[in-house]
Amino acid sequence: MDSPHSRVTSIGSAVGANLVRVAGTLLATRLAKDEGGRVTTTDNAWVIPQATERRYGAALFDLDGVLTPTAEVHMRAWNRMFSDYFEAHHVSPAYTDDDYFAYVDGKPRYDGVRACLASRGITLPEGDPTDAAGTETVCGLGNAKNDMFAKVLRDEGIAPYAGSVALIDHLKEAGVPMAVVSSSRNAPEVLAAAGIDHHFEIVVDGAVAARDRIPGKPAPDTYQHAAQLLGVPEGDAVVVEDAISGVQAGAAGDFGLVVGVDRGAGADALRAQGADVVVADLAELIA
Ligand SMILES: [Mg+2]
Repeated sequence: MDSPHSRVTSIGSAVGANLVRVAGTLLATRLAKDEGGRVTTTDNAWVIPQATERRYGAALFDLDGVLTPTAEVHMRAWNRMFSDYFEAHHVSPAYTDDDYFAYVDGKPRYDGVRACLASRGITLPEGDPTDAAGTETVCGLGNAKNDMFAKVLRDEGIAPYAGSVALIDHLKEAGVPMAVVSSSRNAPEVLAAAGIDHHFEIVVDGAVAARDRIPGKPAPDTYQHAAQLLGVPEGDAVVVEDAISGVQAGAAGDFGLVVGVDRGAGADALRAQGADVVVADLAELIA
C-alpha cells in the first residue's frame, strides 16, 4: 500500500483514478436538479438528518478536532519538549499544561516557544527554521517540539473519534466520496497514526497548499480544490469543520452545506460564522 506521503505527492495519479471512479459512479447514478438548479446525486448520496430537503454528494473533512483529537497530542509534545529543556537548565517553576493554554495554544509554533520562555524570563536567539531540533534557539526548540509531536504519534498513536469513524464507514458504504482538508503539514502522519489514511485518496494539507500556492483557511480555496479533485460540484459537497476559521472558509464558498462540530468553539459562535448545522459528534450526521 502507498505511504500517506506518496499518496499526497502523487495526487495527480490519485485524481486520475478518482475521475475514472467518479465517472463510473455518475453513469450508475440518476441525476436530479434541486430548486437552485444544482446537480444532486439521488443514489449513492448522503442523507443528513438535520438537512433532509436534499442529498449531498461528497464530504470534505477538516482533520484536527473533526476526525482526530489532535490537540491533546500537540499538548503532550509541548509538555515533553519544555519539561526536558526546563529540567536540563534548572528552570523553575516546572512546565505544566497551564503554560500550554497561557502561552502556546493557537499560536504559530515559534511564537509559542518565545512566549513560554519569556514567562520564565528567558530570551533565546531566534535562529532559523532550518535549525536542527534542540538547537538552543527559538526555532530549534520549536523544531524539537515538532519532532516530539511525530514521536508521540508514533509511540502512542492517536485514536480517531468513534463517531467520526462511524460516519466515515457509513459514507464509504453509501459510495460518497471523501477528502481531508487540513491546514496542518502533519496531516498524512496524523491520518496514518489514527489508522484512517486508507479512506482518503485526496488530502489537501498545508504542504499541498504551500506547494500549489492555494490560500489557506479562512479562504475557501483549499476546500474548493478538494471538491475539484474529487470531481464533485462545489454545491454538492459538505464542509465539516470545528474551528471558527474553518467554518468561515466553508461559508465563503458555495458549498452545499457547512457543518460545524462543536469541540469547544461553541455552537452559537459556529452558527454566527456560517455553520448551517452544528453537531457535537459526527455520528449525528448519520440518518
Ligand atoms: Mg480543526
